[in-house]
Order: sequence, then structure tokens, then C-alpha cells
Amino acid sequence: MSFSSEVKEELAGHVSSSRHCQLAELSAVICFLGRVEMGGKSGIRLGIQTENETVLRKCFTLLKKTFNIDGDALQFPREEGKGHTYVTITEDSGEADKILQAVKMRGPDGGENTEAVKVNPLLIKNACCKRAFLRGAFLCIGSMSDPEKSYHLEFVCTHQESAEQLKELIQGFGVDAKIVIRKKYHVVYLKEGAGIVDLLNIMGAHISLMNFENYRIVKEVRNSINRKVNCETANITKTVNASSKQIEDILLIREHYGFQNLPDNLKETAEIRLEYPDATLKELGQILSPTVGKSGMNHRLRKLSEIADRLRN
Ligand SMILES: [Zn+2]
Repeated sequence: MSFSSEVKEELAGHVSSSRHCQLAELSAVICFLGRVEMGGKSGIRLGIQTENETVLRKCFTLLKKTFNIDGDALQFPREEGKGHTYVTITEDSGEADKILQAVKMRGPDGGENTEAVKVNPLLIKNACCKRAFLRGAFLCIGSMSDPEKSYHLEFVCTHQESAEQLKELIQGFGVDAKIVIRKKYHVVYLKEGAGIVDLLNIMGAHISLMNFENYRIVKEVRNSINRKVNCETANITKTVNASSKQIEDILLIREHYGFQNLPDNLKETAEIRLEYPDATLKELGQILSPTVGKSGMNHRLRKLSEIADRLRN
């Protein structure tokens, strides 16, 4: 199962006990996936368009809790077509009307508000209801990439208005969200690991949050090991580069000047450098007896380098 599906599974099992939150979540489902058909003998027919069983299950759980509408999601009539599955929620005009009024997509007088693309702000006034709405929104139009690969969470909206509303809602919780247009869709997305963690927490996906954090920790440890290895490699390269220049100088001195003409301390330094080309200055100094500190070795090698430079000129 993908990480995204795991999050949805967890969110589907999360049903809040207060009616206001249940309605807020249901309004997300109807807002993003709902289809209202008017006319005909029955008046209004309400359905949702989704292939996702998890979403269907959640939708029917919410309907049962809020309106006592019973039903086995799997037994409801479906119509397939154009890559969509349309599932009828209710063909009872009175029932459909009641639901639409409750999620404020239809006035009490039966006035049309069915084209509303944004959720009515009255439904998501409380922080608890905002969380519930985001939970429903993620179930319907959300997805996220596997944290092992990258940090990306998104909501794909059909309308600019609903994308703006979602973005503001997320930002209201102090989490940074952005919108990008992809084909005909308005995509609200999060790219930061920390922001995704916050949003999972806001929606109540606590198990997924911990799994996500585990991936993050493993990734960070791996990165820090890589950084360390790179750093050590860089140091070794530095030592080798410095050493090869020193050796070049020393060989020049041996050929054109002679070690016997060097003072004793420089002579022993030159010999030991040739003998241990890979050693650091500190290691070289410790081989000598009495030992010489790093800065002492540095001083001696600089002297050798000056002699070599004089010989070159
Ligand atoms: Zn609430």
C-alpha cells in the first residue's frame, strides 16, 4: 500500500463525535466529489463521483451518523463512464434536500446554491471543524508522495476558489501552502517535511505522522553520514595535495642542493615526509623523536618550500 493510501485509511477510520465536525467533513466530500442532478420525477438526486472505496465508506459512515441514512456503500447503484464512477447517495428528493441544506449548498427555500464551489465558511468556523474539513478534503482530493522518495503533499482542486480556500485554511494553522496550476487543475501543495508533519497532525493522522517522522530520521541520519564521509574525503584530498607539493619540493632539494647541506631539523623532516607521503603533519611530528607539534612541522616544511623556491629561481 502506498503511503498516501495508508494516510487515507487512517483518516477514514477517524470519525469525530460532534455533529458540527461530522458535517464539516461531509461538506468536504460533497464539495469536492458531490454531484447534484436536478429535475426528473424524483426532483433531486445526490451522488458522489469516486472510485475510492475508502472515501465511499467514510461518506456513508458520515451520512449514517449525521442523517441516519443507512446504506451499504457497495450496494448503491453505480454508473461507470469516462473513467469516473458515480455512486448515488440518495434518490429521495427530501433526503437529498436535507443533506444539501445541512452542508449549506442549498437554501431553506430550496434556492439554488448547488453550484457553490467553496464550502460555506459557517461550516468551518471552529478549529475542530477546520481540521475535520481538511481531513475530508485529503480523503477526496489529496495525495502525498512516499516520504522515502520525496516530501510532497497536494490537494487537486477543479476550481480556483476552492484551492484558495484550502490554502488559506492550511495557512491559518501556520503551515505554508502554495498553489500551482497543472493542466486545468489548481493544485494546493506542501513541500516541506515539517509542514507535512504539521498537516498530518492537524488532520489527525497520528500513526502516519510517526511513520513519516521515522522515514525523516532515517533519511537525516543517512545524509549526515554522507556529509561526514564527504568531509573526511575532502580532508584526505587536502592532505594528499599538500603532501605532493611538499614532496615535489623535497625531491628538488635532494637533487639540486643535497640533504647533507640542510640543517638537521630540516633534513629529518624532508626524509620523513618522503617516507610517509600520506601522513598528516600531526602524524609526521609524532614519528620524530623528540616529537614535534603540528605547527612546528608546518614551519619546517615551509622552510623547505622556500629553499626549493630559491633553487627554482
Ligand atoms: Zn467541530
